[in-house]
Amino acid sequence: MILCEGETATAAAPTGMTDRPRDSPKDRETEQRRLTPEQADRLPRVHRLLLGHYGEPRPRSVRDPLTQLIACLLASRTQAAAAQQAMRELERAFRAGAGNWEPVRDASIAEIERAIAAVAFPEQKALRLKALLEEITARVGALTLEFLARYRTEKIRAWLEQFEGVGRQISAEVVCFSTLRRHALPIDAGHLRVAQRLCLTPRADAATTEERLMRLVPETWDAARLEEHHRLVQIHAQTLCRFEDPGCGQCPLLAVCPSGERRQGELRLTGK
Ligand code: SF4
Repeated sequence: MILCEGETATAAAPTGMTDRPRDSPKDRETEQRRLTPEQADRLPRVHRLLLGHYGEPRPRSVRDPLTQLIACLLASRTQAAAAQQAMRELERAFRAGAGNWEPVRDASIAEIERAIAAVAFPEQKALRLKALLEEITARVGALTLEFLARYRTEKIRAWLEQFEGVGRQISAEVVCFSTLRRHALPIDAGHLRVAQRLCLTPRADAATTEERLMRLVPETWDAARLEEHHRLVQIHAQTLCRFEDPGCGQCPLLAVCPSGERRQGELRLTGK
């Protein structure tokens, strides 16, 4: 395993700053002002380097919050292509989609399971999806999440996270990627690995890492830029910054990556 050196000297909270979610542009502006110029450019620099290496991620249509939530549930622990295939099949099989997910809610678990067979754990996800759609209907009085647009970001995330299978990563994806377009940074296993190897924040779980990384986000970044950043890091985690045998020698981030520099040094010493 690659260990990160100097973790305590990186993006720990400046004095007086607590681990709490940021919400308003004023909060973000205040925290940005507390960063040194070098700290303030860490995330933008990573972003620029990844963008230069991989180019802009393919454009994606922005979904309504409920459709995005369903897509996120299907995508959990599943390859992106398989999750997209299952989503298309779900829409086709039940003639469902944005504003019309009632046919899936009212279908049997076996029918849903057949439609989403391409994802990992389809039986578990079919059960969870049907229960989720029924519970939303019972709580809201209709099968929609449009009302969430009236809430502050953290209230939306807390509301979503009361459902089984919806954690910090999925709530961040729904608020950031959907038409809600709020500030959040989904941290999956790949994103966490890259952030830790880059020593962007001290080692922590995904939820704490998101809070700490959000302190490094420039106030000028909107939700679309945050989504682009997440997708670039995801691509990087899947291609070069793999769990095993990362391709540090070809990495565009090598100059800003203590773990990569250390690994390259070790390889030179062993003559590999
Ligand atoms: S140099 Fe690149 S591939 Fe290697 S650990 Fe760092 S970010 Fe990952």
